[in-house]
Amino acid sequence: MSYIAIDIGATNIRVATGDYTGLIEKVMEPTETREGPMGVSRQIIRLIDSIKEEDPTNIGIGSIGPINLELGTITNTPNYSFHNIPIKEPLIEEYKVPVTMVNDCAAAVVGEQYFGAGSGLRNLVYVTISTGLGGGAIVDDNLLLGKEGNAVEVGHFTLDPESEIVCGCGCRGHWEGFCSGSNIPKYASYLLRGTDWSGGVLHMLTGGSMDKLDAKVIFEAARKGDKYAKMIVEELGYKNAIGFANIVNAYDPELITVGGSIALNNPDQVLKPIIENIEKHTINTIPEIKITPLGHDSVILGALALALNF
Ligand SMILES: [Zn+2]
Repeated sequence: MSYIAIDIGATNIRVATGDYTGLIEKVMEPTETREGPMGVSRQIIRLIDSIKEEDPTNIGIGSIGPINLELGTITNTPNYSFHNIPIKEPLIEEYKVPVTMVNDCAAAVVGEQYFGAGSGLRNLVYVTISTGLGGGAIVDDNLLLGKEGNAVEVGHFTLDPESEIVCGCGCRGHWEGFCSGSNIPKYASYLLRGTDWSGGVLHMLTGGSMDKLDAKVIFEAARKGDKYAKMIVEELGYKNAIGFANIVNAYDPELITVGGSIALNNPDQVLKPIIENIEKHTINTIPEIKITPLGHDSVILGALALALNF
C-alpha cells in the first residue's frame, strides 16, 4: 500500500508519502500560480512521481480554500488570478485511485485527532493563525465539512461590523482582517495612527516606516518591551480571545489546538491573552487551548490520515 498526502498552501505545495506511523518522504515547492488552472495539478503529479516508490493506493489532500468539495476544485482563492482550479479529477485520471480532498484546516484537525494532541477526543477544533486565519472542527467525532466544504471559516467571524478595518474578503471587521499575518500590518498602522511611537524598539526595527510593520517586528519589539508593540500585541490578543470565545460557543470543543506561523513563532504572546480574556465572552465551559504539537505538519498529516482511512 502506498499513501500520498498533499498540502496545497498559498505559498508552498508539500507532497509526502506516509503510513500509520507518520510521514516517510516529503518534498516542498513554491505553489505554481502562473501556469493557468491546470498548472497546480501538473505540479502535484510531478512531485508525487518524484517521491513515490510504487503507484499510490490512496491520496489525501488538504487545500487552501474556498474549495468545492463535490467538484474537487479550489474555487476562488485570491492567491491566483484564475478561478476553479481542478485538483481531484486530474489526480484520479492520472492514478485511478480514491482521492479525498478537504480544506486545509479540516485536514489539520483530522491530523490533530489522528497523530497529535486530539488522540481519543470526539470534540476538538484546530485554529491556524498564519497568512490567513482559519479553523477545522470535529464535533461528536464528525469532521464538519458543510455544503461545499467550507464549514468552519472562523477567520470570517465578524468581531466588529463598525470597524474601518476591511478583511481581504471585502467584509468589515472580520477576525482575519485584524489578526492574520497578511492583515496585522494594516491593523497595526491603524492602531498607531495619531501616536508618537518614535524612540522605541519598534521604531528602530522599522526605521520609523509604517510600511515595515509586520507580525515579526511587532512581536519581537513587544518581547523587548516596546510599549507600542506591546499595545498592538495586546489588541491582537483581545481580538483573538473574542474569536476563540466564538469558537467555544459554536462548537463546544474539549480541546483547541493552535498552529500557523504567527502562533508557532510567538506561542506565549499569542496564547496568554486568549486564555486571560476568553472567559468574558463565552457561555460554554472553556476547553484546553494549546499550541499544536504537530508544528507545520498538521495539514499534511491530516491529509495522510484521510488517505489512510478512506
Ligand atoms: Zn473576511
